[in-house]
Amino acid sequence: MTTVLHLHAGADPAAVKAALQGLGVDGVVARGAGATVVVLGPVSRPLPAAALADLPGVAAVLGGASPHPRLDALAWTAVAVGPSGLAIGPGAPRVLIAGPCAAESRAQVDEAAAQAAAAGAKVLRGGAYKPRTSPYAFDGVGPDALGWLRDAADRHGLALVTEALSERDVARVAEVADLVQIGSRQMQAFALLRAVGQSAKPALLKRGRAATLAEWRLAGEHLLAAGAPGVVFCERGILGAETELRNTFDLAGAVVLRCSMGLPVVADPSHAAGRRDVIAPLARAAWAAGLDGVIVESHPDARHALSDGVQALSPAELAALGRALGTATQEEER
Ligand code: PEP
Ligand code: MN
Repeated sequence: MTTVLHLHAGADPAAVKAALQGLGVDGVVARGAGATVVVLGPVSRPLPAAALADLPGVAAVLGGASPHPRLDALAWTAVAVGPSGLAIGPGAPRVLIAGPCAAESRAQVDEAAAQAAAAGAKVLRGGAYKPRTSPYAFDGVGPDALGWLRDAADRHGLALVTEALSERDVARVAEVADLVQIGSRQMQAFALLRAVGQSAKPALLKRGRAATLAEWRLAGEHLLAAGAPGVVFCERGILGAETELRNTFDLAGAVVLRCSMGLPVVADPSHAAGRRDVIAPLARAAWAAGLDGVIVESHPDARHALSDGVQALSPAELAALGRALGTATQEEER
Protein backbone atom coordinates (compact mmCIF):
# COMPACT_ATOMS: atom_id res chain seq x y z
CA MET A 1 0.00 0.00 0.00
CA THR A 2 1.09 3.50 -0.70
CA THR A 3 0.47 6.59 1.40
CA VAL A 4 0.02 10.07 -0.05
CA LEU A 5 0.69 13.26 1.87
CA HIS A 6 -0.91 16.45 0.59
CA LEU A 7 1.16 19.48 1.53
CA HIS A 8 0.00 22.98 2.41
CA ALA A 9 0.57 25.58 -0.27
CA GLY A 10 3.99 27.05 0.42
CA ALA A 11 5.28 23.97 2.27
CA ASP A 12 8.86 23.02 1.47
CA PRO A 13 8.79 19.50 -0.04
CA ALA A 14 12.50 19.03 0.67
CA ALA A 15 11.95 19.76 4.37
CA VAL A 16 9.08 17.26 4.46
CA LYS A 17 11.30 14.66 2.78
CA ALA A 18 14.02 15.25 5.34
CA ALA A 19 11.55 14.94 8.22
CA LEU A 20 10.28 11.68 6.74
CA GLN A 21 13.78 10.33 6.53
CA GLY A 22 14.01 11.07 10.27
CA LEU A 23 11.05 8.67 10.67
CA GLY A 24 12.91 6.10 8.60
CA VAL A 25 10.86 6.37 5.38
CA ASP A 26 11.59 7.83 1.97
CA GLY A 27 9.15 9.69 -0.25
CA VAL A 28 8.78 10.85 -3.82
CA VAL A 29 7.61 14.39 -4.40
CA ALA A 30 5.18 15.08 -7.25
CA ARG A 31 3.52 18.32 -8.20
CA GLY A 32 -0.03 18.29 -9.49
CA ALA A 33 -2.18 21.19 -10.60
CA GLY A 34 -3.80 21.62 -7.22
CA ALA A 35 -1.31 20.30 -4.72
CA THR A 36 2.19 19.16 -4.02
CA VAL A 37 2.06 15.62 -2.75
CA VAL A 38 4.61 13.26 -1.28
CA VAL A 39 4.12 9.64 -2.21
CA LEU A 40 5.42 7.07 0.26
CA GLY A 41 5.91 3.45 -0.30
CA PRO A 42 5.09 0.80 -0.66
CA VAL A 43 6.59 0.34 2.80
CA SER A 44 7.12 -2.86 4.74
CA ARG A 45 5.83 -1.65 8.10
CA PRO A 46 2.74 0.35 9.05
CA LEU A 47 3.41 4.09 9.09
CA PRO A 48 2.30 6.08 12.10
CA ALA A 49 -0.45 8.20 10.50
CA ALA A 50 -0.58 10.61 13.43
CA ALA A 51 3.16 11.20 13.23
CA LEU A 52 2.87 11.87 9.49
CA ALA A 53 0.00 14.30 10.01
CA ASP A 54 2.06 16.19 12.58
CA LEU A 55 4.97 16.83 10.22
CA PRO A 56 5.36 20.51 9.36
CA GLY A 57 3.83 21.28 5.96
CA VAL A 58 1.51 18.24 5.81
CA ALA A 59 -2.14 19.14 5.18
CA ALA A 60 -3.63 15.65 4.86
CA VAL A 61 -2.62 12.00 4.95
CA LEU A 62 -4.37 9.81 2.40
CA GLY A 63 -3.64 6.22 3.25
CA GLY A 64 -3.46 4.05 0.18
CA ALA A 65 -6.75 5.35 -1.22
CA SER A 66 -5.63 5.17 -4.85
CA PRO A 67 -3.55 2.51 -6.57
CA HIS A 68 -1.92 5.21 -8.73
CA PRO A 69 -1.07 8.17 -6.50
CA ARG A 70 1.57 9.55 -8.84
CA LEU A 71 -0.91 9.68 -11.73
CA ASP A 72 -3.45 11.36 -9.48
CA ALA A 73 -0.90 13.97 -8.49
CA LEU A 74 -0.20 14.82 -12.13
CA ALA A 75 -3.85 14.95 -13.20
CA TRP A 76 -5.07 18.13 -14.91
CA THR A 77 -1.58 19.10 -15.97
CA ALA A 78 -0.02 18.89 -19.42
CA VAL A 79 3.15 16.95 -20.20
CA ALA A 80 6.09 19.01 -21.47
CA VAL A 81 7.36 17.51 -24.74
CA GLY A 82 10.80 18.54 -25.99
CA PRO A 83 12.67 21.79 -25.48
CA SER A 84 10.41 24.05 -27.59
CA GLY A 85 7.73 24.66 -24.96
CA LEU A 86 5.25 22.22 -26.52
CA ALA A 87 2.95 20.54 -24.01
CA ILE A 88 0.30 17.85 -24.41
CA GLY A 89 -2.55 17.50 -21.97
CA PRO A 90 -5.12 19.45 -19.99
CA GLY A 91 -4.65 23.18 -20.33
CA ALA A 92 -2.56 22.95 -23.51
CA PRO A 93 -3.82 23.30 -27.10
CA ARG A 94 -4.78 20.03 -28.82
CA VAL A 95 -2.04 18.63 -31.04
CA LEU A 96 -1.92 16.78 -34.31
CA ILE A 97 0.80 14.13 -34.50
CA ALA A 98 1.49 12.64 -37.94
CA GLY A 99 4.00 10.61 -39.87
CA PRO A 100 4.63 7.19 -41.31
CA CYS A 101 4.17 3.89 -39.52
CA ALA A 102 7.84 3.13 -40.15
CA ALA A 103 10.82 5.25 -41.13
CA GLU A 104 11.89 3.71 -44.44
CA SER A 105 14.49 6.11 -45.88
CA ARG A 106 15.91 9.53 -45.12
CA ALA A 107 13.96 11.04 -48.03
CA GLN A 108 10.64 9.40 -47.07
CA VAL A 109 10.95 10.61 -43.49
CA ASP A 110 11.84 14.14 -44.53
CA GLU A 111 8.94 14.35 -46.99
CA ALA A 112 6.53 12.97 -44.39
CA ALA A 113 7.76 15.53 -41.85
CA ALA A 114 7.29 18.39 -44.34
CA GLN A 115 3.73 17.22 -45.02
CA ALA A 116 3.01 16.82 -41.29
CA ALA A 117 4.27 20.34 -40.59
CA ALA A 118 2.21 21.76 -43.47
CA ALA A 119 -0.91 20.16 -41.98
CA GLY A 120 -0.18 21.90 -38.69
CA ALA A 121 1.18 18.88 -36.84
CA LYS A 122 3.46 19.68 -33.91
CA VAL A 123 4.94 16.21 -33.54
CA LEU A 124 6.40 13.77 -36.07
CA ARG A 125 5.73 10.07 -35.56
CA GLY A 126 7.55 7.13 -37.14
CA GLY A 127 9.10 3.88 -36.02
CA ALA A 128 12.70 2.70 -36.29
CA TYR A 129 11.79 -0.48 -34.41
CA LYS A 130 8.45 -2.01 -35.40
CA PRO A 131 6.49 -4.68 -33.52
CA ARG A 132 5.14 -7.01 -36.23
CA THR A 133 2.77 -9.94 -35.86
CA SER A 134 4.75 -11.97 -38.39
CA PRO A 135 8.48 -12.52 -37.82
CA TYR A 136 8.95 -12.23 -41.62
CA ALA A 137 7.37 -8.77 -41.97
CA PHE A 138 9.47 -5.59 -42.26
CA ASP A 139 10.37 -4.69 -38.70
CA GLY A 140 12.08 -1.35 -39.08
CA VAL A 141 15.44 -0.03 -40.22
CA GLY A 142 16.84 0.29 -36.70
CA PRO A 143 19.37 2.83 -35.39
CA ASP A 144 19.97 4.67 -38.71
CA ALA A 145 16.28 5.55 -38.86
CA LEU A 146 16.49 7.27 -35.48
CA GLY A 147 18.90 9.79 -36.97
CA TRP A 148 16.66 10.38 -40.01
CA LEU A 149 13.68 10.98 -37.74
CA ARG A 150 15.51 13.43 -35.48
CA ASP A 151 16.95 15.35 -38.43
CA ALA A 152 13.57 15.57 -40.18
CA ALA A 153 11.81 16.70 -37.00
CA ASP A 154 14.42 19.42 -36.47
CA ARG A 155 14.34 20.58 -40.09
CA HIS A 156 10.57 21.05 -39.96
CA GLY A 157 10.25 22.38 -36.41
CA LEU A 158 8.54 19.29 -34.98
CA ALA A 159 8.93 17.28 -31.81
CA LEU A 160 9.48 13.53 -32.27
CA VAL A 161 7.72 10.46 -30.93
CA THR A 162 9.18 7.07 -31.73
CA GLU A 163 8.87 3.62 -30.22
CA ALA A 164 11.25 1.73 -27.97
CA LEU A 165 10.43 -1.92 -28.57
CA SER A 166 12.72 -3.43 -25.97
CA GLU A 167 14.84 -2.37 -23.02
CA ARG A 168 17.87 -2.72 -25.30
CA ASP A 169 16.68 0.21 -27.47
CA VAL A 170 15.67 2.60 -24.72
CA ALA A 171 18.90 4.56 -24.34
CA ARG A 172 19.25 5.06 -28.11
CA VAL A 173 15.59 5.97 -28.57
CA ALA A 174 15.50 8.33 -25.58
CA GLU A 175 18.54 10.16 -26.95
CA VAL A 176 16.58 11.31 -30.02
CA ALA A 177 12.90 11.15 -28.98
CA ASP A 178 11.00 13.90 -27.21
CA LEU A 179 8.33 11.35 -26.32
CA VAL A 180 9.16 7.63 -26.10
CA GLN A 181 6.37 5.44 -27.47
CA ILE A 182 5.42 2.24 -25.65
CA GLY A 183 3.57 0.04 -28.13
CA SER A 184 0.24 -1.60 -27.47
CA ARG A 185 1.83 -5.04 -27.30
CA GLN A 186 4.33 -3.78 -24.74
CA MET A 187 1.91 -1.95 -22.41
CA GLN A 188 2.55 -4.45 -19.65
CA ALA A 189 6.21 -5.16 -20.40
CA PHE A 190 7.13 -3.93 -16.96
CA ALA A 191 10.91 -4.07 -17.40
CA LEU A 192 10.53 -1.91 -20.52
CA LEU A 193 8.28 0.52 -18.64
CA ARG A 194 10.91 0.79 -15.91
CA ALA A 195 13.69 1.42 -18.41
CA VAL A 196 11.66 4.10 -20.23
CA GLY A 197 10.71 5.69 -16.90
CA GLN A 198 14.37 5.84 -15.93
CA SER A 199 15.27 7.50 -19.24
CA ALA A 200 13.91 10.84 -18.01
CA LYS A 201 11.89 11.36 -21.22
CA PRO A 202 8.08 11.42 -21.06
CA ALA A 203 6.24 8.45 -22.56
CA LEU A 204 3.40 7.95 -25.03
CA LEU A 205 1.67 4.90 -23.56
CA LYS A 206 -0.48 3.01 -26.03
CA ARG A 207 -3.33 1.04 -24.58
CA GLY A 208 -2.95 -2.75 -24.73
CA ARG A 209 -5.42 -4.34 -27.13
CA ALA A 210 -7.08 -6.25 -24.32
CA ALA A 211 -6.28 -3.93 -21.44
CA THR A 212 -8.82 -2.53 -19.03
CA LEU A 213 -8.71 1.15 -18.14
CA ALA A 214 -7.36 0.20 -14.69
CA GLU A 215 -4.51 -1.82 -16.23
CA TRP A 216 -3.72 1.04 -18.62
CA ARG A 217 -3.56 3.55 -15.76
CA LEU A 218 -1.37 1.24 -13.68
CA ALA A 219 1.04 0.88 -16.60
CA GLY A 220 1.25 4.69 -16.50
CA GLU A 221 1.91 4.52 -12.77
CA HIS A 222 4.77 2.07 -13.46
CA LEU A 223 6.38 4.67 -15.73
CA LEU A 224 5.97 7.45 -13.18
CA ALA A 225 7.20 5.26 -10.31
CA ALA A 226 10.36 4.61 -12.34
CA GLY A 227 10.92 8.34 -12.79
CA ALA A 228 9.12 9.34 -16.01
CA PRO A 229 8.43 13.08 -15.97
CA GLY A 230 5.04 12.56 -17.64
CA VAL A 231 2.82 10.10 -19.48
CA VAL A 232 0.52 10.74 -22.44
CA PHE A 233 -2.06 7.96 -22.79
CA CYS A 234 -2.92 6.85 -26.32
CA GLU A 235 -6.16 5.04 -27.18
CA ARG A 236 -5.46 2.92 -30.28
CA GLY A 237 -8.36 0.50 -30.33
CA ILE A 238 -9.16 -2.58 -28.33
CA LEU A 239 -10.39 -6.08 -29.08
CA GLY A 240 -14.04 -6.30 -30.11
CA ALA A 241 -16.40 -8.59 -31.98
CA GLU A 242 -16.09 -6.67 -35.25
CA THR A 243 -13.90 -8.08 -38.02
CA GLU A 244 -14.21 -5.35 -40.67
CA LEU A 245 -12.11 -3.00 -38.58
CA ARG A 246 -8.66 -3.71 -37.19
CA ASN A 247 -9.77 -2.92 -33.63
CA THR A 248 -12.63 -1.20 -31.82
CA PHE A 249 -12.04 2.48 -31.10
CA ASP A 250 -12.90 3.03 -27.43
CA LEU A 251 -13.60 6.74 -27.37
CA ALA A 252 -15.61 6.35 -24.16
CA GLY A 253 -12.64 4.82 -22.33
CA ALA A 254 -10.39 7.62 -23.53
CA VAL A 255 -12.93 10.18 -22.36
CA VAL A 256 -13.07 8.60 -18.89
CA LEU A 257 -9.32 9.03 -18.49
CA ARG A 258 -9.23 12.51 -20.01
CA CYS A 259 -12.44 14.20 -18.94
CA SER A 260 -13.21 12.49 -15.64
CA MET A 261 -9.69 11.90 -14.39
CA GLY A 262 -7.76 14.75 -16.03
CA LEU A 263 -5.07 12.56 -17.58
CA PRO A 264 -3.40 13.57 -20.86
CA VAL A 265 -4.94 11.41 -23.62
CA VAL A 266 -4.59 11.31 -27.39
CA ALA A 267 -6.33 9.03 -29.89
CA ASP A 268 -4.77 6.95 -32.67
CA PRO A 269 -7.59 6.32 -35.14
CA SER A 270 -5.16 4.75 -37.65
CA HIS A 271 -4.44 1.65 -35.58
CA ALA A 272 -7.94 1.66 -34.11
CA ALA A 273 -9.63 1.42 -37.51
CA GLY A 274 -6.93 0.03 -39.78
CA ARG A 275 -8.73 1.67 -42.70
CA ARG A 276 -7.91 5.00 -44.27
CA ASP A 277 -11.54 5.96 -44.95
CA VAL A 278 -12.50 5.93 -41.25
CA ILE A 279 -9.54 7.88 -39.87
CA ALA A 280 -10.62 11.50 -40.40
CA PRO A 281 -14.14 11.08 -38.91
CA LEU A 282 -12.70 9.30 -35.85
CA ALA A 283 -10.02 11.97 -35.47
CA ARG A 284 -12.70 14.66 -35.56
CA ALA A 285 -14.73 12.76 -32.94
CA ALA A 286 -11.72 12.53 -30.61
CA TRP A 287 -11.01 16.24 -31.12
CA ALA A 288 -14.61 17.18 -30.42
CA ALA A 289 -14.74 14.95 -27.33
CA GLY A 290 -11.98 16.98 -25.73
CA LEU A 291 -9.00 14.64 -26.02
CA ASP A 292 -5.59 16.30 -26.15
CA GLY A 293 -4.83 15.37 -29.72
CA VAL A 294 -4.73 12.74 -32.40
CA ILE A 295 -1.87 10.69 -33.84
CA VAL A 296 -2.31 9.51 -37.41
CA GLU A 297 -0.24 7.57 -39.89
CA SER A 298 0.56 9.39 -43.11
CA HIS A 299 2.89 8.48 -45.96
CA PRO A 300 4.14 10.36 -49.02
CA ASP A 301 3.44 7.24 -51.12
CA ALA A 302 1.07 5.07 -49.11
CA ARG A 303 0.65 2.44 -51.81
CA HIS A 304 4.31 1.53 -51.49
CA ALA A 305 4.56 1.80 -47.69
CA LEU A 306 6.52 -1.06 -46.10
CA SER A 307 4.04 -1.32 -43.22
CA ASP A 308 0.44 -0.26 -42.54
CA GLY A 309 -0.04 1.31 -45.99
CA VAL A 310 -3.79 0.60 -45.98
CA GLN A 311 -4.28 2.91 -43.04
CA ALA A 312 -1.87 5.68 -44.06
CA LEU A 313 -3.31 9.03 -45.12
CA SER A 314 -2.07 10.44 -48.42
CA PRO A 315 -0.51 13.92 -48.36
CA ALA A 316 -3.80 15.39 -49.64
CA GLU A 317 -5.82 13.53 -47.01
CA LEU A 318 -3.47 14.70 -44.26
CA ALA A 319 -3.78 18.28 -45.45
CA ALA A 320 -7.58 17.94 -45.45
CA LEU A 321 -7.47 16.57 -41.91
CA GLY A 322 -5.35 19.53 -40.82
CA ARG A 323 -7.99 21.85 -42.28
CA ALA A 324 -10.84 19.92 -40.64
CA LEU A 325 -9.17 20.04 -37.22
CA GLY A 326 -8.13 23.65 -37.69
CA THR A 327 -4.42 22.94 -37.19
CA ALA A 328 -3.42 23.92 -40.73
CA THR A 329 -3.25 27.61 -41.36
CA GLN A 330 -3.33 29.08 -44.85
CA GLU A 331 0.26 30.09 -44.40
CA GLU A 332 1.44 26.64 -43.34
CA GLU A 333 -0.20 25.09 -46.36
CA ARG A 334 1.32 27.44 -48.84
C1 PEP B 1 2.54 2.19 -34.18
O1 PEP B 1 2.15 3.23 -33.68
O2 PEP B 1 3.25 2.18 -35.18
C2 PEP B 1 2.12 0.89 -33.61
C3 PEP B 1 2.77 -0.22 -33.86
O3 PEP B 1 1.03 1.01 -32.84
P1 PEP B 1 0.39 0.00 -31.77
O4 PEP B 1 1.46 -0.34 -30.78
O5 PEP B 1 -0.74 0.78 -31.21
O6 PEP B 1 -0.08 -1.22 -32.54
MN1 MN C 1 1.57 1.31 -37.79
